[in-house]
Amino acid sequence: MAASAGDACGGGGGGGGGVGGRAGAGAGAAAEARFISSAKGKGLFATKSIRKGDTVFVERPVVASQFLWNALYNYRACDHCLRALETAEENAQRLLGRSSQVLPHPEQCSIRKDLHQQCPQCQVTYCSAECRQSAWEQYHQVLCLGPSREDPTHPLNKLQEAWRNMHYPPETSSIMLMARMVATVKQAKDKDWWIKVFSQFCSKTANEEEEIVHKLLGDKFKGQLELLRLLFTEALYDEHLSRWFTPEGFQSLFALVGTNGQGIGTSSLSQWVHACDALDLPMPQREQLDAFIDQLYKDIEKESGEFLNCEGSGLYVLQSCCNHSCIPNAETSFPDNNFLLHLTALEDIEAGEEICISYLDCCQRDRSRHSRHKILRENYLFTCSCPKCLAQADDADVTSDEEEEGEGETDDAELEDEMTDV
Ligand SMILES: [Zn+2]
Ligand SMILES: [Zn+2]
Ligand SMILES: [Zn+2]
Repeated sequence: MAASAGDACGGGGGGGGGVGGRAGAGAGAAAEARFISSAKGKGLFATKSIRKGDTVFVERPVVASQFLWNALYNYRACDHCLRALETAEENAQRLLGRSSQVLPHPEQCSIRKDLHQQCPQCQVTYCSAECRQSAWEQYHQVLCLGPSREDPTHPLNKLQEAWRNMHYPPETSSIMLMARMVATVKQAKDKDWWIKVFSQFCSKTANEEEEIVHKLLGDKFKGQLELLRLLFTEALYDEHLSRWFTPEGFQSLFALVGTNGQGIGTSSLSQWVHACDALDLPMPQREQLDAFIDQLYKDIEKESGEFLNCEGSGLYVLQSCCNHSCIPNAETSFPDNNFLLHLTALEDIEAGEEICISYLDCCQRDRSRHSRHKILRENYLFTCSCPKCLAQADDADVTSDEEEEGEGETDDAELEDEMTDV
């Protein structure tokens, strides 16, 4: 996996706050979604000229949820916005398995424990009063387990247990994202408004949906999907949404999340590293600090491997319209250490031009057209016709030995790379 804790977050951020309210991109977004064709669906286009390095927009997801194994393994995150809750030092200590580790410059850690809050009924933790309130107003009244948080026979716990047993790390999705969708509609006064929000996400044919479910659940997917549907129904049935609980509707919901879910990664440690990088230090201290951080990451990799971040996924209305290119002109990141997605221009983009991100990580992008197409077809069910692919259309349709070896990786790992390359 290409993502390291250092990739997770840029500068800025800080305590809680400012992440309540409804979904959507911030005011002044320099892009809008437009319908391209029935074959290509929607795309994202610049509404004004954008300079390289500019933020195209910052977007809040309509729903987001931490991955279940990630949470179980004590990657502590805000139950609403996924902000990491450990201090940078605690984060380093856990990832190193070494409780004596001390970090220099502790004042550069952005975690504000004094702002953290718990749900008084079930004790899940939020980074701020705003997040607790947003969650309560949107979905948590339906999903709060109250005193049953540890009760394995509670329908929501049975559902999560079943999901964990079907979907091991590296994780790419969570059944709780779907549960939050249902809970959001159940709680809403204006149910039709929310149903419309969710219906904007790209939909697939029944055959394509089956491929996506197969991809997420493996070869025994039909039986597993039915088991999940029964548990999902037991935990969450609502007559306003009865279609989502039918076998066809449940498969569609599953495919919607599988196709549109965007990976989110947050890390206290990487926030601290970025803040340290920005410090104005005399040369000897700078070299010493850089060497310390390099060694820290090496030690963490030995102990924890690739699993450095709090990870989850979310549904973003605008970002989900962004098509793939093997030579993208924009990229997504989570520099605020929470679920706020920043789309940043990698090139100058003219007004009217399509804005594309890459669904492949940088290593995958450097592979042959044949290899790229194989990954995109298997994970995203389309054939890329970006300028790079068109230019390479006449290349021999074979891969080098080295690339064939690369393809021995599991497909889940490839999907995971994309999902969490933050
Ligand atoms: Zn939060
Ligand atoms: Zn609660
Ligand atoms: Zn391409």
